[in-house]
Amino acid sequence: MHKLEGIPVSGGMALGACFVLRRPVLMIPHYAADPAQERQRLQEAFGTLEEKIRVLIAREAQNQTVKGEPQILEAHLLMLEDPDFRQRIEQNIATGINAEAAVEQAGHEMASRLLALPDAYLADRATDIQEVTYRLQCHLLHQTVPGIQDLQNPAVLVTRELAPADTIGMNRNLVLGILSETGGVTSHASIIARSLGIPAVSGLPGLLDLVQPGQQVCLDGTSGQVLLDPDAETRLLFTRHVQRQQEEEKELAAYRQAPTQTRDGHSLLLAANIAHAGETVQALSSGAQGIGLMRSEFLYMESKDSFPGEEEQYRQYVQVLRDMKGHDVIIRTLDIGGDKQLRYYRFPEEENPFLGVRAIRFGFAHEEILRTQIRALLRASVCGSLRIMFPMIATREEFSRARAIVQEEKDHLQRQGIPVSPAIRLGLMIEIPAAALQAESLAGEADFFSIGTNDLIQYTLAADRLNPGVQYLYQPFHPAVLKLIQMSIAGAHARGIPCGICGEMAADPAGALLLCGMGADALSCSPALIPSIRRTLHQYDYAELQQTAQQALQQEDAGQVRQCLAELMERRQA
Ligand code: PEP
Ligand code: MG
Repeated sequence: MHKLEGIPVSGGMALGACFVLRRPVLMIPHYAADPAQERQRLQEAFGTLEEKIRVLIAREAQNQTVKGEPQILEAHLLMLEDPDFRQRIEQNIATGINAEAAVEQAGHEMASRLLALPDAYLADRATDIQEVTYRLQCHLLHQTVPGIQDLQNPAVLVTRELAPADTIGMNRNLVLGILSETGGVTSHASIIARSLGIPAVSGLPGLLDLVQPGQQVCLDGTSGQVLLDPDAETRLLFTRHVQRQQEEEKELAAYRQAPTQTRDGHSLLLAANIAHAGETVQALSSGAQGIGLMRSEFLYMESKDSFPGEEEQYRQYVQVLRDMKGHDVIIRTLDIGGDKQLRYYRFPEEENPFLGVRAIRFGFAHEEILRTQIRALLRASVCGSLRIMFPMIATREEFSRARAIVQEEKDHLQRQGIPVSPAIRLGLMIEIPAAALQAESLAGEADFFSIGTNDLIQYTLAADRLNPGVQYLYQPFHPAVLKLIQMSIAGAHARGIPCGICGEMAADPAGALLLCGMGADALSCSPALIPSIRRTLHQYDYAELQQTAQQALQQEDAGQVRQCLAELMERRQA
């Protein structure tokens, strides 16, 4: 038995024989060539590849079982259309080298630049460049790429890096697990694995030299452990785990597309929290009924050397809105400062950054940055159902100011003839006790609320959410926190607007039950948790949740509230 440790990228366990997807190593010739002729060959290779990708996208659009690849293939199309990429290759050709070598050089330069950045997401984008480079070279060399469609029996797929185009025509039922040499948590291959619920481990350099086709392997996509040639005892252990997992998955699968409601039919909305446009794939396949929170600050935190421009943001927002096909998408304006720092901007020293110029306060202090984002959002709004949400609102004046900025930018765009959706809604996050206490007044100004319990808890108990020394005070179920949540929901309802929850409390089964009982209109959590939260809600009657919530609000401390919730859950299991 041979043990390996990789990066866990998609949870679950698998056991089976290896199917090795080995791509031919291309021997790239280097020779002096006529630039005009090479440009012509390049033009043809770009044209053929573009055409092929378009065909695959069209085919995938009809295939309802494997979701995700169209977006990924579109990312490859964008790469092919990227003028910088094309220009670099042409500049290389102009130096008198052949097209294959020119592509190799340009692809290598661009990928290495991204890989050098201390950022997992951008480093994973290097994989897209490598993939497009490889396929362009295959076309230039008239080489065919071996495919997953050769798979006939259930097996664990072993590959250097699973490319999106590789998964076209993949029979999900035959792929028990995926092991790859390269790629991280946010690589497209990992996104696909997660959205299809296939256990996967990546970051296993040299794997292809270690395994033989047909060799037995066990993998744990939650811990990253891989065992080649497992002994009988290990095989038995994994078989039992896999069986249990399949039973659990079968049960949860029914909750992916089910309505979100309590046992007696009280409905609410269950949406997804995302950080990147690419995560809509997983959100939809998990059964999200919208995006409850897009943390747009990731765009800012991942930008290399400057604040992201309007065009770059616009493209991301358009992608999310289009992918979500008319479901509501709540995009939060940049929430930086505090623990969220930027590489290219030095925040002035502050005694208490969490009480300082963060979130909307930063937006007001640097209005042009906020206005750039607002313009990108407004332009994208015609592509779906957009809700713009402002973080850390403390006062009515702050919200009015944010709303006025939106109106000014909207008028400005419309004067230029740029369309903006008339149906955009503007809301705010309740994260500061002052906002919860003034909820009814704020609700008179806003179209919706979303409670950010992560911050609301830290500000209510004055306990830094990141400081281990005060973790004992970070109590989601403290009666003071519950009272503020209750006031926020009541305030919203008094003025006829909805109130959701997008903090981690909504991702906890007991928290979700309590919030539902308190009358929350929506819960938003990480896509992977949606089916299990929905199942939890299905097991209880709304009246008993309301009753438990009322009882919880009467308790004197967090321990007693937990006790009420534990009793509710025990009664269900009894
Ligand atoms: C929150 O505070 O609950 C929230 C959702 O925002 P973040 O965790 O990004 O601060
Ligand atoms: Mg917050």
